[in-house]
Amino acid sequence: MSTATPSAAGGLYSDVIRERWRRPRHRGELPGANAVAEDVNPLCGDRVRLMLTIEPDGRIAVVRFVGDSCAICTASTDVLAELITGRPRAEARAVEVADLLAVLQAEIRPTRMRCVSLPLSVLAQALNGTKTP
Ligand SMILES: [Zn+2]
Repeated sequence: MSTATPSAAGGLYSDVIRERWRRPRHRGELPGANAVAEDVNPLCGDRVRLMLTIEPDGRIAVVRFVGDSCAICTASTDVLAELITGRPRAEARAVEVADLLAVLQAEIRPTRMRCVSLPLSVLAQALNGTKTP
């Protein structure tokens, strides 16, 4: 008699990724966002649009995202949104892939690293952008 072991345990996705993918906390539209950017990861087909509300003092008040992305990319974007909410612009800029991986707790294959880093490049574009509402 073999013991039934859920094959989902271990494997490609960590619990954090699965949970964030199923129930992202920061997904949704953000009317009135004053910093917006969107980019794609052609390797995987991920598309992420980040919307930020930045206070006059440079603090990031609200972060939302929408897009069509894989589990890793969705989870990574959701984690990034959480990390930068309430932070000054300069601190948000300083977030690195390693910070996201530390939260995701997953061993990401080199071929999927772009899924993790895509939201960082979208964020950089949003912070550099000069869009006004
Ligand atoms: Zn992906």
